Amino acid sequence: MAKTEPNDRKPHITEQAITLGNWHHHVNWVNTSLILIVPLGGCVAAFYTKLQAVTAAWAIMYYFWTGLGITAGYHRLWAHRSYEASRPLRIFLACVGGGAVQGSIRWWSSKHRAHHRWTDTVKDPYSVMKGVWYSHFMWMVLKQNPKNKGRTDISDLNEDPVVVWQHRNYGSVILVFGVLFPMLVAGLGWGDWKGGLVYAGILRFLFVQQATFCVNSLAHWLGEQPFDDRNSPRDHVVTALVTLGEGYHNFHHEFPSDYRNAIEWWQYDPTKWSIWTWKQVGLASNLKEFRANEIEKGRVQQLQKKVDQKRAKLDWGVPLGQLPVVDWDDFIAETQSGKALVAIAGVIHDVTDFIKEHPGGKTLISSGIGKDATAMFNGGVYMHSNAAHNLLSTMRVGVIRGGGDVEIWRHQNKQSAIA
Ligand SMILES: [Zn+2]
Ligand SMILES: [Zn+2]
Repeated sequence: MAKTEPNDRKPHITEQAITLGNWHHHVNWVNTSLILIVPLGGCVAAFYTKLQAVTAAWAIMYYFWTGLGITAGYHRLWAHRSYEASRPLRIFLACVGGGAVQGSIRWWSSKHRAHHRWTDTVKDPYSVMKGVWYSHFMWMVLKQNPKNKGRTDISDLNEDPVVVWQHRNYGSVILVFGVLFPMLVAGLGWGDWKGGLVYAGILRFLFVQQATFCVNSLAHWLGEQPFDDRNSPRDHVVTALVTLGEGYHNFHHEFPSDYRNAIEWWQYDPTKWSIWTWKQVGLASNLKEFRANEIEKGRVQQLQKKVDQKRAKLDWGVPLGQLPVVDWDDFIAETQSGKALVAIAGVIHDVTDFIKEHPGGKTLISSGIGKDATAMFNGGVYMHSNAAHNLLSTMRVGVIRGGGDVEIWRHQNKQSAIA
């Protein structure tokens, strides 16, 4: 059978424009049901469901568990291997992470590794370059072109039986831990079956989903870039607050295998606190941290870059290498023909327009015209400020051949000639 040439293949749906006739082919209906249709149904049901205080407390508690399943489990443990977890902890994280209804560990981590590897490019599955809403959730609502798939190595995940089990049984996992378990706790616990389903189940996972999606959108759009500004990741406390500490995203993209996102003790990173606590009780080990020296190097380099950018916008005078080289005698001749030139540290400065404004008065500045005023300027008459040095450099017009202390050499030459 003849091999199909690429040109003979039907173009992928993503290569066709979205029209009224074909839009439903563009939609990934499984994802859309799980992140839009069911959650919207939950919002409608909430209008008809009384919220009990105890159910609200349970929903918030389960939000933390399932949120941690994603941040401490899917993200920091499986996608980045920033620490090691015992089997019971891995099973717990796989179950509650599944209850966050965001895909299996295997699927999520492979996308996330592609996001780190190909950040802001066409192979980044949730590139913010395609817009904030695209990076937030449209990348899941719309089908993706397989041509743009960023390849990643997930062989380590395939060797973890917990990951493989969760991937194989993902449908049951989301049904049980996304909906049935939270409903069962509220139903058996205090008889609130409906509230358990609507609030601790659906609305809670809607909230965890949206919070996690903020890491892909908000954390690439809002905030500071203290470590590197070549790509989009940013640090912001608001993102940290909604994502259980994943908001220090500029740091995270620079140091992805660090189990922390926030490195200061006062920053909000409950995911880090949880992992640290699990270590204390023997459930987690080998927590990875980048050396403070390496982190500070990144911070200083970024600061330096910002300073250099600011510096480049200012007028520092003509660079010395671009000034004409002038003989001492020509310098004297020019001053005698009326130009107010002063030589300081081997550089000629035209002070004609500055004489009137000189804070020390006209007389003192005029006394330096046609002379090497280096000593006068640097304390001989007055020790000028840093600001005065800066201002002076904007008046540069030439460099004296032979450098600075020419007048002294000439004086010495005269003396030796007399002798
Ligand atoms: Zn990111
Ligand atoms: Zn990450």
